[in-house]
Amino acid sequence: MTADLRFRDPKLAERLRSKIARLAQKKETIKICHVCGTHEWTITHYGLRELLPENVEVIAGPGCPVCIVPASEIDEAIELTLNGVTITCFGDVFRVPGSTRSLLDAKAEGADVKVVYSVSDAVRLAKKEPEKDYVFFAVGFETTAPSTAVEVLMNPPKNLSFLISHRLIPPAMKLLVEMEELNLNGFIAPGHVSTIIGLKPYEIFPSEYHMPTVVAGFEPLDVLFAVYMILKQISEGKARLENEYTRAVRWEGNVKAQRVMHRVFDVVDGRWRGLGSIESSKFILKEKYSIFDAHLKYDLKIEGGVDLRPGCRCHLVIIGKIKPTECPLFMKACTPRKPVGACMVSSEGTCRIWARSMSS
Ligand code: SF4
Repeated sequence: MTADLRFRDPKLAERLRSKIARLAQKKETIKICHVCGTHEWTITHYGLRELLPENVEVIAGPGCPVCIVPASEIDEAIELTLNGVTITCFGDVFRVPGSTRSLLDAKAEGADVKVVYSVSDAVRLAKKEPEKDYVFFAVGFETTAPSTAVEVLMNPPKNLSFLISHRLIPPAMKLLVEMEELNLNGFIAPGHVSTIIGLKPYEIFPSEYHMPTVVAGFEPLDVLFAVYMILKQISEGKARLENEYTRAVRWEGNVKAQRVMHRVFDVVDGRWRGLGSIESSKFILKEKYSIFDAHLKYDLKIEGGVDLRPGCRCHLVIIGKIKPTECPLFMKACTPRKPVGACMVSSEGTCRIWARSMSS
């Protein structure tokens, strides 16, 4: 049996399902939150919610790095293109709506926007055209921030600067756990982010909030096992931090990547789309690297921005307060072909994942 099939074994899934059912018996509603687009994909694609008892709910938190970029930062990128700058960005941020339009719309109107697969592609393009001003729109969580940091340290060409939009996941989890109306009972922590940051940043959840927290991988049995581990902690009346994804995540994480991030970035409060400002949740370039900071280089000062179009419920979907199907625009005015909200754009967005599963 290959590694993949081992983690999709129906017999093991059935055994886990009945263990979960036993642990959940006679309990009030148990609400578990994950914060990762790939977890949402696994849960939706494999129909894991249907395997869980009625009183065990798994909700999707802000785990899509593109969905949470505030409109003002898209507006900034568009503003740069109006000043003759070439924007390079990942494909999934290309279609994310700003206050009035997306980078794709701006490109259709003549703006120079290039989709790249990595920050190194942006460096290569900038070197090829030294007479042009290039900006890399750096979006993503702790998973992608180290690659941006590495390029900054490698002395990029003078015609390239960075519009940093990287965010940190643990501060967003802290916001969720403090939202009384969500009433969470446990966290499934994201596997990809944890390969970089390790487990330490999650220690506050069991210790300060008494919140069982389990780092999980992305196969169906990983997620089911994480749910089982959380329920076991709840049954024992103990909150612990545990690692289900030991085949990829070490307790200390990727120390080299952490060092690189800390050399290049400071951490400040940052706005998340529809959620407002979250304390200590955003990377910015350290003063030492300010010559690469597009904000300073081009004197960018866009504040506010329109995060939500009329009728859009992305701010509630992002925190798992409602399901995508509870948004009045879902699969009516808002579809993967014509997204109204950011959650319908990226393959990691909850609405996009639900839309895809309905059509497959
Ligand atoms: S269906 Fe569209 S508008 Fe509604 S919450 Fe999802 S992305 Fe936002």
